[in-house]
Amino acid sequence: MALDTLDYSVLVALAAAVIAYYTKGSLWANGDKQDTTVQSTSRDIIETVQSNNKNYLVFYGSQTGTAEDYAHKFAKELKSKFKLNVMVADLEDYDFDNLNDLSIPVSFFISTYGEGDYPDPAVPFEEHLQSLVEGDLEQFKYTLFGLGNTTYEFYNAAAEKTHNALKQAGATILGEFGKGDDGAGTLDEDYLAWKEAVFEVLKSYLHLDEFDAEFEPSLELTRLSQGDYDQEKIFLGEPDKSYLDPTANLSLGPFDHAHPYLAPISTTKELFNSKDRSAIHLEFDLSQTNLRYSSGDHIAIWPSNSEEKLSHFLQMTGLATVQDQVISLKPLDSTVVIPFPSPTTVETIFRHYKEISGPVSRQILGNLKQFAPTSKAHDEAERLSKDKNAFANEVHAHKYNLAEVLSLLSEGQPWSVSLEFLVESISTLQPRYYSISSSSLLDKTSIHVTAVVEADQFEDRLITGVTTNLLRHIQLNQNKSTTEPHLHYNLDGPRGKYVNKLPVHVRRSTFRLPSNTSIPVIMIGPGTGVAPFRGFVRDRYKLAESKDAEQFGKMLLFYGSRSSTEDFLYEDEWVEYSKSLGSSFELITAFSRESAKKVYVQHRLWERKEEVFALLEKGAFIYICGDAARMARDVHETFAEILAEGKGISKDQALDILKQFKTLNKYQEDVW
Ligand code: FAD
Repeated sequence: MALDTLDYSVLVALAAAVIAYYTKGSLWANGDKQDTTVQSTSRDIIETVQSNNKNYLVFYGSQTGTAEDYAHKFAKELKSKFKLNVMVADLEDYDFDNLNDLSIPVSFFISTYGEGDYPDPAVPFEEHLQSLVEGDLEQFKYTLFGLGNTTYEFYNAAAEKTHNALKQAGATILGEFGKGDDGAGTLDEDYLAWKEAVFEVLKSYLHLDEFDAEFEPSLELTRLSQGDYDQEKIFLGEPDKSYLDPTANLSLGPFDHAHPYLAPISTTKELFNSKDRSAIHLEFDLSQTNLRYSSGDHIAIWPSNSEEKLSHFLQMTGLATVQDQVISLKPLDSTVVIPFPSPTTVETIFRHYKEISGPVSRQILGNLKQFAPTSKAHDEAERLSKDKNAFANEVHAHKYNLAEVLSLLSEGQPWSVSLEFLVESISTLQPRYYSISSSSLLDKTSIHVTAVVEADQFEDRLITGVTTNLLRHIQLNQNKSTTEPHLHYNLDGPRGKYVNKLPVHVRRSTFRLPSNTSIPVIMIGPGTGVAPFRGFVRDRYKLAESKDAEQFGKMLLFYGSRSSTEDFLYEDEWVEYSKSLGSSFELITAFSRESAKKVYVQHRLWERKEEVFALLEKGAFIYICGDAARMARDVHETFAEILAEGKGISKDQALDILKQFKTLNKYQEDVW
């Protein structure tokens, strides 16, 4: 049978998709993986270390970039203080079978994610650790710093697992196993305390001399003159090379943390009815791409910085006068990672690729003092960098960002900070994750996001979030609102390509409804925690078109917010879903500010304890989404109390049952 043109184009597209899948798009995307990843092509760690004359190795396993940042900070200091030739590497990029033959010490920076999990890129490392037996790593020396959060049940679990596995295999830890707690807001101080102690141990173990720490670049930054570059090849915020290639098909995946999809934004609306608070509903259109998702997945949105934050930053660092300067970056050796695509401009670096408005670390002040405009500013930077309490009271407590700290120290006078220093010391701007609030059954070609806008009045300023204020600006702009955004962004994006679009990628999650629709589900999602449950309910709403909804297992959704008039998310939609799903769906609301005593979701859960217990006895699955700090714990406690009372057992026994539920995936959390 002959193939017609359509058949051929389908086959070509299929072949292209298969190649893209197996090459991760590298054949034609030529994506920023190539620009930003270790240049070495070997997965043999010993070969790479030796061929680059490295005498110290720092490995990181990072989900959102924080562990990677700390790994780089640590390496930089080892280099400048002790003149070590340090290599920093992603655990994803190497094999581990010859670790025991590595003659140099290794420092690990490992974050914990989800239910005590390793970050995605470090999963092969975890698997390797599980295969180790006693004696496998008898020669191996390491230090370890875990990044975790005590508001989660499995605090620093990935680092703990690493430590135990290395110890059992006979490896020797140098110094203490360090743990940083993001939940308590002490991550930076935990790191600094651990690092000081580890440096002392390394000094004596490796017989190191200590030098005055001076910034030593790992990258060669060249300032280009007109004529040295082709304007069309300058990155103006594009995430990777394929975005500069007019022939590249940007709608064909795979899409991931190295290559996002530039997704059209089809709809935006304000969800709150409030003068002071805002939440955005936003829909990305997937009709022109092969990007797909499942209900319960996360979408990563790639933000940029606002005009206000950018101009203050450029002004205070002294870079405003050179913001149009084109620069290129080259690694000084083949193991160094280039943090963003180059060549680019100074303005682009800080608009698109660097995190300029978050909290400041104490350590950076010590390094910045050399660029102070006055001796007073120099001395102040030095004092704050050395005095933990003064830094906590005078900087951290006021939530100053870098530009604000510089301004505070110099009384508003601009500094002359080295571009090289800023490029290597400031974290990369990371995509922010959102629980998808649409249904992959009902909304096959769109992804919905439900985001609460971060803008809190604090002292005399608004403390703002980067991404959510960008979403709000897009919403106000799309809907031609006369309301002023808190922050203004360049919504056109690089070369005008981002008009009504944003770069995104999808991260698969394990947060899934049971495939058997007769199993009851209990969902707890206050605030924007309701996002994935809107997707789940829409799944059932779609299924009800062809199935008898009364045959579905009961779906109970506990939702909470401040009031029924101000911030009741998707109020009208629930009515619609109820009509179609009948008695198989029920929304139970808790409005905390509508009664003398505050009512939260856990109180409503307790009020319905008989029914909840009966559903659990029928095998109900439990889902919790939203605030990890308090809500998820309070809800967990309440479930334990319901089980204890229902079964006539102790609370500890009930907690054990919940633990089993977790291992069976019958108790799932999507909390942040
Ligand atoms: P950021 O810029 O990241 O700022 C974070 C916070 O720091 C803000 O409160 C900000 O005001 C504050 N801040 C800013 N500058 C400073 C400073 N100098 N000092 C101290 N504090 C400062 N959110 C949702 O709304 N909906 C969801 O469905 C959702 N799902 C999520 C799912 C997952 C798996 C995860 C991990 C997170 C999810 N989040 C969700 C949270 C979301 O990813 C973002 O963290 C959130 O929207 C804030 O992003 P932002 O860029 O606006 O704020």
